[in-house]
Amino acid sequence: MRRFMMSVAMYFLASVPQLVSLYNGIFPAWVTMAWVAVAVLTNLTFYLLFRLRLNLRLRDPSMTMLQMVAAIVMVMGTQIYAGEARGAYLVVLLIIMVFGCFKLRTRELLWLSLGTIVTYALTLPLIQHLEGEKFNLAVEMVLWCSFSVFLPFISVLGGNISDLRKKLMMSNAQLQEVLQQVTELATHDELTGVYNRRYLLEMLRHEKNRTDRGGAGFCVCILDIDHFKRINDNYGHPVGDEVLKTFAEVVQPLLRSTDFFARYGGEEFLLFLPQTSLEMAQHCIVRIQEALAAARYQGLPEEMRITASIGVAQYYLPESVATLIERADKALYRAKQNGRNRMELAPFQQPVFLT
Ligand code: GH3
Ligand code: MG
Ligand code: MG
Repeated sequence: MRRFMMSVAMYFLASVPQLVSLYNGIFPAWVTMAWVAVAVLTNLTFYLLFRLRLNLRLRDPSMTMLQMVAAIVMVMGTQIYAGEARGAYLVVLLIIMVFGCFKLRTRELLWLSLGTIVTYALTLPLIQHLEGEKFNLAVEMVLWCSFSVFLPFISVLGGNISDLRKKLMMSNAQLQEVLQQVTELATHDELTGVYNRRYLLEMLRHEKNRTDRGGAGFCVCILDIDHFKRINDNYGHPVGDEVLKTFAEVVQPLLRSTDFFARYGGEEFLLFLPQTSLEMAQHCIVRIQEALAAARYQGLPEEMRITASIGVAQYYLPESVATLIERADKALYRAKQNGRNRMELAPFQQPVFLT
């Protein structure tokens, strides 16, 4: 549509020499009238095709070729009557060819310029007939030769630009895809699809800063699958992988959209619950434990259940993220010591202030 509007603007510009020619009596008034009528009708038709979205049914919805042919036909029609001003009208052909470089290939542009050159040659006898005595064959030959050389040249140039545009568009699309992949790789764990350690730690640091500036508190939980090594040993590593994936799939839907769940490493996961009290975090963990008690895993016997030991810690101002995780880890260690498949809360640790 934007390109169509550009071509409409070109028609407005082209009407200036038309009117000057009319004013100076270069050609009869009906030629200008006819040109205006054809230009308005043609552009109205194109506009309607675009608006009614009928162009979308065409192989090239931009209708570049059709628009170019229409413009060339109009130039060919008027130049017949332009007399000594013919050169001024023929120049427009070069601009029309430039329009083609948005869409057409070199071959199509070359065919179009060949057609134009031949048509122009065919109009010469008619021009001679109209101009009679005034017809200057030498001048007309120079004009025809120069357009016969420049039109194909512009076509090749335009074709190259068109190719470049296509390549650029293609590499942009590829770049976008790769960027998406890189972002996914940089923030997500490949096996389970949940966030990775790096991304979660980054989010934790953000939240810590927010809390330090007066935001609501938050909690972190470390979940470690119980006796996971046995699963690998008894059922094989691929089944172990499957268990890790299913474990993540069980936990993820239980969380709020604002929570972050990440694979911390191996069979350990880290859950970060922003704007959450210790009590709310406990509720969340109970929900997870209930879901785990009902979950089934591919490759494992029906009745087999996977459990996790969980350490929960609430952030205390102004401890570091590392200290917070260390406290959650200690709580997890206690959960393992106290018989697994349970959660332990990290006790409040008085911050040490250096004096
Ligand atoms: P505990 O209840 O004390 O946590 O015992 P555990 O067996 O779960 O813990 P341990 O640290 O002894 O073993 C963890 C195992 O997890 C060892 C390692 O081979 C396995 N593991 C780590 N990453 C992966 C993985 O990506 N895929 C699979 N299949 N296994 C993994
Ligand atoms: Mg572990
Ligand atoms: Mg474990």
